[in-house]
Amino acid sequence: MLHTEYSLKSLNTFGLDVNAQSFARFSSLEELKALMLEGPSELPVFILGGGSNLLFTQDVSCFVLRNEIKGFEILTEDEEVVVIQAGAGEVWHEFVRYTVEKGWGGLENLSLIPGSVGASPMQNIGAYGVEIKDTFVSLSAYHLASGEVHTFNHEACKFGYRESVFKREKKGEYVILDVTFKLNKNPNFHVEYGAIKGELETMGVTELSVDAISQAVMRIRSSKLPDPKVLGNAGSFFKNPVISVEQFSSLVTSFPEIPNYPQDNGTVKLAAGWLIEQAGWKGKRVGNCGMHALQALVLVNYGGATGSELWQLSHAVMDDVKNKFGITLEREVNIY
Ligand code: FAD
Ligand code: NAP
Repeated sequence: MLHTEYSLKSLNTFGLDVNAQSFARFSSLEELKALMLEGPSELPVFILGGGSNLLFTQDVSCFVLRNEIKGFEILTEDEEVVVIQAGAGEVWHEFVRYTVEKGWGGLENLSLIPGSVGASPMQNIGAYGVEIKDTFVSLSAYHLASGEVHTFNHEACKFGYRESVFKREKKGEYVILDVTFKLNKNPNFHVEYGAIKGELETMGVTELSVDAISQAVMRIRSSKLPDPKVLGNAGSFFKNPVISVEQFSSLVTSFPEIPNYPQDNGTVKLAAGWLIEQAGWKGKRVGNCGMHALQALVLVNYGGATGSELWQLSHAVMDDVKNKFGITLEREVNIY
């Protein structure tokens, strides 16, 4: 069903009250194709998943299409691995829990990330040392310009740190329809992130399992991250900066305690949350918005903030980090 001037307030996790000029939901490729014929062809198409990685700074002058394609399908299975395809409109965490309950390893560290399966390749979602690229096989996507369905294998997605081809050169060109993952029945566990080990200890876990790790991640996240249903947010607002060893060497002279994570390619990843905290923004509120008290990387809407207020706050934070550390933070959240 086509709607005009449709409120997206309940469909974005910042809770921003913006309208889509035109709006519809689809739950199959056929419905999507039909909407492309009936819908307002003069408007650009904007695909919406769970709205958890978006900042709307204005009304959306687009034909907004909410992807609600559901379903899981096991494509192949043997004693070692399971290849499973999920509809793009599935809720990511529900898909993760389905795989965890089966005992299949690979996605457990990515528990409780909001949003849809279809958006997961967009920024190669990651947490606690795991990214979807580690288990990703392929995806199929509808090409808006030609109406064809294309398959993207791992290489074609050009995954990077919170990046993919869909966030860069092919931005806005495709509607992801389904995503396929290869999961392991005898998994290698990733518990190297300190917080996970500590939480497993607190839980009294002596034997690792995908479910124990998933539960540990859920507990850590629930204790630290604001629930968007209570406090509007889109998770980490900025990416962690990755800098050269030379730049890091000069920075560490002035800030010997700076947390740093050397990367395989010789660069060094810094924790954006720490930089923001040191710049004085942790827990700081300006009007209706601010940087969260428990994780300074999360920009929050205390209620009633507009998208442009949130945008301005992000600008002020970036300015202060730049002045203190000489580092330009990059926004992770998609801005409209
Ligand atoms: P949306 O916000 O709806 O869309 C994001 C972008 O993807 C938009 O550009 C949209 O047009 C596009 N898009 C969405 N679906 C499709 C599709 N089917 N086809 C084509 N384009 C599409 N992210 C992490 O990586 N790691 C985390 O640990 C993490 N933690 C978070 C914690 C909280 C509390 C919150 C609020 C967010 C967190 N995020 C995290 C960010 C966010 O949850 C993810 O980026 C998620 O994948 C976004 O999914 P979504 O369906 O909400 O996408
Ligand atoms: P944290 O554990 O307090 O760590 C702070 C930062 O240091 C993280 O950003 C992380 O980088 C980095 N880090 C910590 N231990 C590391 C290690 N052993 N090796 C490499 N890097 C390490 O972070 P947090 O805020 O509680 O978040 C926990 C995890 O959830 C992180 O992976 C984070 O990315 C993810 N998360 C993402 C979002 C989002 O919206 N994108 C929101 C909430 C949480 P990385 O971020 O690169 O992992």
